This record gives sequence, C-alpha cells and structure tokens, in this order.
Amino acid sequence: MDEEAVREAGRILAEGGLVAFPTETVYGLGANGLDEKAAARIYAAKGRPSDNPLILHIASMEELAPLAAEIPPEALALAEAFWPGPMTMIFKKTPLVPLGTTGGLSTVAVRMPSHPVARALIRAAGVPIAAPSANTSGRPSPTKASHVAQDMDGKIDMIVDGGEVGIGLESTIIDLSEDVPTVLRPGYITEEMIRQVTGRVQVDKASLGQMAPDVHPKAPGMKYRHYAPRAEMTIYRGREEAAVSAIREALAQAASQGKKAGVICTRETEALYDAPVKKCIGSRAEPETIAHNLYDVLRAFDEEQVDCIFSESFDDNPLGGAIMNRLVKAAGHRIVECQE
Ligand code: AMP
Ligand code: MG
Repeated sequence: MDEEAVREAGRILAEGGLVAFPTETVYGLGANGLDEKAAARIYAAKGRPSDNPLILHIASMEELAPLAAEIPPEALALAEAFWPGPMTMIFKKTPLVPLGTTGGLSTVAVRMPSHPVARALIRAAGVPIAAPSANTSGRPSPTKASHVAQDMDGKIDMIVDGGEVGIGLESTIIDLSEDVPTVLRPGYITEEMIRQVTGRVQVDKASLGQMAPDVHPKAPGMKYRHYAPRAEMTIYRGREEAAVSAIREALAQAASQGKKAGVICTRETEALYDAPVKKCIGSRAEPETIAHNLYDVLRAFDEEQVDCIFSESFDDNPLGGAIMNRLVKAAGHRIVECQE
C-alpha cells in the first residue's frame, strides 16, 4: 500500500475534498460523510440525483453508535458474521448524520469495508466516509482505477490506485430499520447466508428485476437505470442451447443490417458465436469470476463502439441473483425468454 498516498488522501477528505479509493466491492468516491457540503460535491461529480442516499463507511464497531440511533441484536449478529466485508446495513439515523448524505431520509446506510486501503483511508480521514461507486451516474461501476479516471478525471481531487478490486459487485444492502431484516440490493452476501445468521430475512420486491410502476423501492437508487453500457443490450434467458441459438440468429440479423454487434458469452459457449466483438465473461463453473468481470466487460463495449449487445444470462449459481440484478438493469429490462 502507498502509505504517503493514503495520508494525502486522508488530508483531502478531512478538508472537504473528493477522493476515489478501492474497496473489495468496487471503487468508491469518498467525501467526509458528516459534512453536507462535501457530500454535495459527490452528487455534482457523479451527476447523481440528490434523492439517492450515500453509504457511510467506517473502520471499527465503535464508529457505528454515533451514526445509528438503534442497533438491533440482529445487526450485531450480522456485523459479527460479515464485517468487515461486502455488506451494508440500514439503521435509523442519529442527528449527527446530515440529511444531505441520506437523500433526506431518516435512515442511514453503513458499511465496514475489508479492503486494507479503504480501512487505512477511513482511519486517516478520522471521519466516516460517504462513498457511492466512483462512476458517472448510470454507467457501469468502476472495478479498476482506470475506470474511475474515464469518468472522474478533472472532477475530483485524487484517485488512490489499489489495483483491481476483488468482488466486482456492490455490497448487499440489508434494511434493519424495520421489523424483519430486508434485502434491498442483492450482492456477494446472499439471502441464504443472512438467513443462517438471523433466522429470518425478506427480499424487497424491487430488487428482483422488473419493477411494476407502482412499486417504490426502499433503496432509492434501485429505481434508476444503472450500470449501463452505451449500446442497447438484450439479455437472452432460458435453457443454454436455446439462448445460444437465439443469440446466433440475432447476430446474423445485426450483420445483415450492417450493425456492429457484441456478444457476452462464457468459456463454455465462446466458440459457438461469430461476432464482431466477443467478450468472454468467465466460466459458468466460476460465478465469482463472472461477477468480477461484469463491469469491465460492459465498459469494454463502449470502447469498441458497438451498436448492440446480446448477452447470455447467468442465474444458475449462488451469485446469480446479484449478477442478474445488475445485468437486467444494464439492459434496461430488455429480456428475450428463449424456449426451444
Ligand atoms: P452506491 O453507493 O452507488 O452503490 O449506491 C448506494 C445504494 O444504497 C443506493 O441504491 C441507495 O439508494 C442505497 N441506500 C443508501 N442509503 C440508504 C438508505 N438510508 N435507505 C435505503 N437505501 C439506501
Ligand atoms: Mg452506484
């Protein structure tokens, strides 16, 4: 770790500036979470709607009590099991937390990351760090410092480069501010892992793909188009052979229309496509690799300037819920169900 860079970044944060830094999930764009003005700069740099609240990052359990008005026993059990790590919990907030970082909500989202650079930076800043993903609002989240630079160059004070992140998907968000622990955003910590700790858990409907117009997601961020490459993307869902043959047909049609098409495939299916741009996201046997590569693959299509993207689906594994939640949003819910 570049300790001088972390010290410098800590100073910038303490003075109200903006610093992008690595966490184990994705790169975050940090500011002093207790300073409304600093938080406002995050919204401006990202072009993020101001009703979309920020997650506060802490480095030790002692830092939780000043932020959370009530800490139910289930939260302590979850913290014991999964912190530091890729899990965010929502609590009723204390007056210390400004409404400018919670999007006007009376609740606050808190996470204790495990990445050594993130932890050192929180300590160096001496305050909770408000940090959403360090991408322009709506674009794929950054999993490398170069992704951050693509979106944020000239808009922020510093990028701490910690190499590629590990997980590559944002944290699981669990609401503990009401009776039953509720998953608002799926992630690496799965519903099953939570249930083993708390015995009970429910999943907010809005986190499960297609959202009816009358469903109001409890995580305001879930209602926005997100994670999206510039080209129109379509997901082909269903049995693998049926999806592959539908994608092959779509590729042939795109070619006949003079369109440059891209395909997201797996090690197992790569050889089956003839496409101008082919991105292998990993092997179906390794869902962790698929999660890790997802945003990098989506960004790569922007560089290749494709007109359309066809993707297989990846829901046949324990991380499938988290991966498909992002992919379906990136596709703006354009899904083709493939029957044979
Ligand atoms: P990002 O940091 O870009 O991963 O986005 C943070 C996510 O956490 C967004 O979807 C927010 O809507 C959600 N979030 C943050 N604070 C709260 C809160 N107090 N209640 C519900 N959702 C929240
Ligand atoms: Mg984000």
